[in-house]
Formats: sequence, C-alpha cells, structure tokens
Amino acid sequence: MTRVIRTREELREALSGAPRPVGLVPTMGWLHDGHRALMQRAGAENATTVVTIFVNPRQFNEATDYTQYPRNEARDVAIAAEEGVDVVWAPPVEEVYPPGFDTRVSVGALAQVLEGGARPGHFDGVATVVAILFSLVGADRAYFGQKDAQQVMVIRRMARDLAIGTQVVTCPTIRERDGLAMSSRNVHLSPEERAAAPVLRRALLAARSRWEAGERSADALRAAMQDILATEPLAHPEYVSVADGTTLGELEAVAGPVLLSLAVRLGATRLIDNEPLAESNDAPG
Ligand code: AMP
Repeated sequence: MTRVIRTREELREALSGAPRPVGLVPTMGWLHDGHRALMQRAGAENATTVVTIFVNPRQFNEATDYTQYPRNEARDVAIAAEEGVDVVWAPPVEEVYPPGFDTRVSVGALAQVLEGGARPGHFDGVATVVAILFSLVGADRAYFGQKDAQQVMVIRRMARDLAIGTQVVTCPTIRERDGLAMSSRNVHLSPEERAAAPVLRRALLAARSRWEAGERSADALRAAMQDILATEPLAHPEYVSVADGTTLGELEAVAGPVLLSLAVRLGATRLIDNEPLAESNDAPG
C-alpha cells in the first residue's frame, strides 16, 4: 500500500518505524519512465522507498516556467503505486517552507557554471530543498538522474560538506526511442519542436564520436556540437560545454573525465542533456 501524506509531521511519523534502509527519490512530479527507473532502483536496494512530489518554487528563475510546470498528482500517485513505492510525500509549499523560513543552502564553484550561470539562484533552490528532504527523511540513499548531471554533483557536494549521511546515487538517463531524454517539460513541445528535439542527442553523439576518433581539442568538440545544432532551425542553443568532469570548469584540451553538456531552447521550452566521456583507465567519478 502506498501512503500519500502532506505534512512534515506525518512524514516523520510514517518513517519512524519503517524498515531500513530507506531510499529517497525526490521529484517535481509529472512522472515518466526516467522517474520510474529511479523508483525501481530505490526499491531494489532499500526496504522502504519514499518519493517526494514537490514543484519547488525556489529553484525556478522564470515565473512562467513555475506556473506552467505540468502537474497531475493523481496520475503520479498511481505510477508510484505501480512501482511499489511505500510513501509519497506531496506537501504544500508552506509545509516545506513554513512562515518565517529564512535559510538558503548555497554550493560554491560547482553551482556557479553551466545551469548555475544560465539560471541564477537555481542551485540554491535545489540545494536548499534537497537539504530539507534529506533531513526530514533521514534516507540511507537518495537517487538522482544523470539527465541533470550538474544537479547530482551539486547535491553530492552539499551532502558531503554538511556531513549529511545520505548516500547520493546517480542513475542513467532514460530516453525516448529517438534519443530525446525524457523530461516533464517535453509535454510543452509542439509537434514540430518535438520532431526537432533529438538534435540535442545527435549533437552530443557527434562530439562523442569525434572524441572516440582521437580529437582532444575542446573547441573542436564544441564546434562539432554547434554544427549539428545549426542544422535544426528550431533549435536555439544557450550553451554548449566541454567541461572537466570533476570541477565542471571549461576545458581547452580534453584529458581525464569530461562532461559534454548543452542547453537549447525550442520555442518556449528549454531542454538540457549531457554525455560523460571517460577514458577506460580513468578513475570513476
Ligand atoms: P524532476 O522531476 O525533473 O525534478 O526530476 C526528478 C529526478 O528524476 C531528478 O533526479 C532527475 O535527474 C531525474 N530524471 C529526470 N529525467 C530523467 C531521465 N530522463 N532519466 C533519468 N532520470 C531522470
């Protein structure tokens, strides 16, 4: 039986005697197969699985992106139940941020580049809400998608720095058949934009194949991505990045683990995707 609860108090009560380990999957709802994969992994590795559904106002830097974010709690709860989730926490905003709430968790350099540069304040909102969730749930493990590669790095840094014992687990990106990374925001794409959207994946794979062929100039890899994006008139790139896979600093020459990433606007919808590159003898990040 999946329990759906709203308050901090109910959450503590529901988890007080719950079998451990506890696995947490934080989401903003409008659940898709990417979220299902996180729930399945959490279910396989833990005795109790908690999913949170909360469209976090503090991580949105555009008001319309927040108000238009897709929501369907009944459908989300049905999906969580299908996946055998024990507890769904779907709080109202004031339950996460009670009156007088005045704390911000702000991660440093890792959170200032890429998405942090393009979306000021975004990662403060993410780190703050995830710190609250980690504290309330007291999870042994929490599951995040590679789809949001920088987010999981920022959260891992935050948990380490604040000595929060929750282990941060990264799960692979789940894609549509044509390569588009699943995302709740894909629902906003017009049919023409949806048809154009796999260009993000094609751009990343073009850079990956140049790298596999021996290219080690980061500018050449950026150009490979830009060239593919330029073939799609509906795609408006915001950034393409070839960054150090550990620090996310932009590279000149590629060596060691690398994160290829990009953000592209298709009409009013902003999509992101990424592709990690690692030499076979690189230490795992
Ligand atoms: P969101 O609801 O978009 O905030 O995402 C909640 C979690 O699901 C985050 O850890 C995301 O990285 C992860 N996620 C979103 N889309 C995907 C995907 N296509 N594949 C894997 N994980 C995903």
